Amino acid sequence: MTAFSTLTQLPASQIDNLNELGYLAMTPVQAASLPAILEGRDVRAQAKTGSGKTAAFGLGVMHRVDASQYVTQALVLCPTRELADQVTKELRRLARFTANIKILTLCGGQPVGAQRDSLLHAPHIVVGTPGRILDHLKRETLKLDAITTLVLDEADRMLEMGFREDIDMIISHSPQQRQTLLFSATWPQAIAHISQKIQRDPLTVETGDVS
Ligand code: ADP
Ligand code: MG
Repeated sequence: MTAFSTLTQLPASQIDNLNELGYLAMTPVQAASLPAILEGRDVRAQAKTGSGKTAAFGLGVMHRVDASQYVTQALVLCPTRELADQVTKELRRLARFTANIKILTLCGGQPVGAQRDSLLHAPHIVVGTPGRILDHLKRETLKLDAITTLVLDEADRMLEMGFREDIDMIISHSPQQRQTLLFSATWPQAIAHISQKIQRDPLTVETGDVS
């Protein structure tokens, strides 16, 4: 059991917030990945569902976001709207330690017009599904040229659902200089392949419990 307080980069206010959430110790995937994530390294992590992957990348995203800069600094790609909503909810919990971090969910099945209005004031963090994110990039209602962190959550499912091409195009709108975090419950060849293409010297984390 490793306490979150061993992560010296986290402010005391975030440690207090985690305690209030009942997060007293890191889960195995968090303990194995967070030190590298907080240092800014690329990480690719395999861990089963329910192992706390969202807070692993979420604490990294919170650490890097500068709330005083009104540009989009992090993008989290998820396979479905349901999962994107769950991730947004968890990120909002992790953002409670600090004021003014704006998080926006962008998924299909919702009116583009309302999303475009929400994007007029750039959110710090965008969470969404690849199709709709790409749609906004093409309309130029979303810009990714200032992102410092890109997260692929449930990467195996996104590839199964045929999002590979969309992901490649989204990445072509992102700066080369960025942190890329890749999380997956399983590790098929296609994941190794995309990791190789989009990550730089990633730390590989396997927690042993294969789902
Ligand atoms: P995964 O993405 O790996 O499927 P989640 O990030 O959705 O898992 O986390 C699963 C559950 O565990 C969530 O309810 C989350 O709030 C909780 N959780 C995450 N990290 C911790 C922790 N360190 N201690 C206690 N609960 C945690
Ligand atoms: Mg998850």
